[in-house]
Amino acid sequence: MEDVYFSKKIKSILDNLDLMSLGKNVAIKVHFGEKGCDTHISPEVVKAVYEKVLSCGKTASLVECNTLYKGERTTSTNHIKLAKEHGFGFAPIDILDGEYGQDYVEINGCKIGKGIKKYDSMIVLTHFKGHIMAGFGGAIKNIGMGLGSRAGKLYMHANIKPTVNSEVCTGCGICVKNCNENAITIIDGKAYIDHEKCVGCAMCIAVCPNESIEIAWDSHTGEEIQEKTSQYANGVVSAFKKNQIVYVNVLENITTDCDCLGEKQEPIMKDVGILMSKDIVAIDKASLDLVRKHSGDEFDQINLINKDNQIKCAIENNLGSSKYNLIDLD
Ligand code: SF4
Ligand code: SF4
Repeated sequence: MEDVYFSKKIKSILDNLDLMSLGKNVAIKVHFGEKGCDTHISPEVVKAVYEKVLSCGKTASLVECNTLYKGERTTSTNHIKLAKEHGFGFAPIDILDGEYGQDYVEINGCKIGKGIKKYDSMIVLTHFKGHIMAGFGGAIKNIGMGLGSRAGKLYMHANIKPTVNSEVCTGCGICVKNCNENAITIIDGKAYIDHEKCVGCAMCIAVCPNESIEIAWDSHTGEEIQEKTSQYANGVVSAFKKNQIVYVNVLENITTDCDCLGEKQEPIMKDVGILMSKDIVAIDKASLDLVRKHSGDEFDQINLINKDNQIKCAIENNLGSSKYNLIDLD
């Protein structure tokens, strides 16, 4: 049985957070929300955690990796700019996988943002919500998908290597110059990717100015994404010594889709509260149970992905236990 603490107030959670057992340089994992999203995790909650860490004599940065899709968080420069626009400018922001998401360290076969190695402990702050491909977005998704480098994210999202949409490709050749595998050639004024040479690094996706390189988003089932995300969460957890990660799930502004959706979303239910645990499976299971309890069957109706399978995959990837003891701090 893993302890999962519950409160409606971040202060009560922080009063029960054993920060002294964490290392000196703390990574605080945050999803800053895509441009247009205003239901991402509250900057006030993140700031409270950050200031508490500093008050214990430790250093901390807000950490994240760049996105696979083309948006405002595809490059570190734009990502940090957007994070500041969303109210997270109070702390250092460290995008772990380099300007174009190209820098990674391989851990248990997973390509994790390289900068993770700078930190000796981590607090994972997660806005809990639905997710169109994984069923729900909790702590497992936040670190598994979130801290994968761009190549890792491509692996988790698609079975098929990228292709070029010749209708929008201008033949500018930028992708050719940025492909280390010489997998791209221009034929009759259009780029062509040789899948025999392509290693799926996804650099071409990041640098193409016309969004001409396509990802086969529908080549994976929800179950495949859940399994691969759990594999990557295992890679992230393995970057730290035992008991050096704490998870905080914020069950507020719960929406149908992920904060990667670049548009305003209406919450589908009333706020529930905040959870904290040292076990990533226990906290996601407790979050799922609470959200189900408070929403009737509404949360399970928002997408047709089997949400319990994400918990099952996490257990099979040795991430923790789904059995928990809920401790109400209020
Ligand atoms: S960078 Fe984009 S537009 Fe330019 S050649 Fe490559 S695919 Fe075509
Ligand atoms: S994914 Fe990487 S290896 Fe494949 S074509 Fe694009 S840049 Fe080249």
